[in-house]
Amino acid sequence: MTEAASTQHSSSAWLGTVSSAQANFYWVRLDEKAGNGPYQPLKMTLLCTRRARLKKMGQQVMVGDRVWVEDPDWEDARAVITAVEPRRTQLDRPPVANGDQVLLVFALVEPTLDPHQLSHFLVKAEATGMDVCLCLNKRDLASEVQQQTWIERLCQWGYTPILISVQTDPAFPALAQALRDRITIVSGPSGVGKSSLINALIPKTDLRTNQVSGKLGRGRHTTRHVELFELPQGGLLADTPGFNQPEISCHPEDLAQYFPEIRQRLEGDRCQFGDCLHRDEPGCVVRGDWERYEDYLAILKNCLAQQQLRQDSPDPEATYKVKATLAGQVSHEPRLQAKKYRRVSRRRRQQALQELRCELTDTVEPLSDLDEIDWESEN
Ligand code: GDP
Ligand code: ZN
Repeated sequence: MTEAASTQHSSSAWLGTVSSAQANFYWVRLDEKAGNGPYQPLKMTLLCTRRARLKKMGQQVMVGDRVWVEDPDWEDARAVITAVEPRRTQLDRPPVANGDQVLLVFALVEPTLDPHQLSHFLVKAEATGMDVCLCLNKRDLASEVQQQTWIERLCQWGYTPILISVQTDPAFPALAQALRDRITIVSGPSGVGKSSLINALIPKTDLRTNQVSGKLGRGRHTTRHVELFELPQGGLLADTPGFNQPEISCHPEDLAQYFPEIRQRLEGDRCQFGDCLHRDEPGCVVRGDWERYEDYLAILKNCLAQQQLRQDSPDPEATYKVKATLAGQVSHEPRLQAKKYRRVSRRRRQQALQELRCELTDTVEPLSDLDEIDWESEN
């Protein structure tokens, strides 16, 4: 459905990215070389509605979506979204399409860095299908030895953390480099400095509520509002942190892919059985003496229990609900396919699920506060 929509834009259409969405209005930041129309606006942001046809098709528009706009009114900076490009990734909380990476933030101390909690967050972040960038904050409170110990330990896990102190050293060249030209969503437990970091990264001059009151003549503020902010060095950052409860509920056979240590072990070698879950199967190359193996087993046990629950559930609605909370883990794919391919097919399923959700609830427009406002002005 999305693909069909993306092919039907007219000869005067401009391509851009949805940076913000409220009710049925979308702010679309046009690409520098945005389209095939007669006029090339420079990095302009247009306030857009969604063409009625898209709504009828159940085609949602999310922050982060790549969209085609038509019928621009350059003076008033308005236009209509007529097509949505297929999504590369999709996160439900916060609702952001086409995210490239999860920036996982933990504190070295205060709160004490708990390796199991970190492991759970890492797996959950890996399960989104996006890249994972790990950042350890509050280095000002940690000794050199503590810092070095964590760097070495995480290296064993397959990660290279970026150590920062938002409070005492708010210039982070390595982090800025990692965020460059990508769409990033921050995640992590509370108290680690996520809000402080987001505030430090997003230029103070970008006042988020102004945009709304200025364009629509009605100032409003909503906590469900997600916005992508342009970073000074390029790249977009969601201003709302993502999941902070790392419930992991993927298909048991997918779980191994979310551990770099396992991916590495399976790169050069193969388990005897193609559907090995790496527990006590003979000829398993994953089982062994590596730090997070116990975490793997614990999470696997949980995933197997949830799978059983889904199979036992006679109520399709209940099954559906379990699936809907999985943030990317909607169903199972055959094993031994290339990872890239697996991801594509998972995304397809996500979109199908999204459409199903549209039909079931009709309230899925993630950012619409229809009780608060009714601006329906579809073309
Ligand atoms: P969030 O819950 O993850 O959004 O964390 P906050 O941004 O609210 O920060 C939690 C607390 O940690 C606040 O009191 C911050 O001032 C403090 N904090 C944030 N970054 C640092 C840091 O780099 N060093 C120190 N010492 N404190 C920090
Ligand atoms: Zn195995």
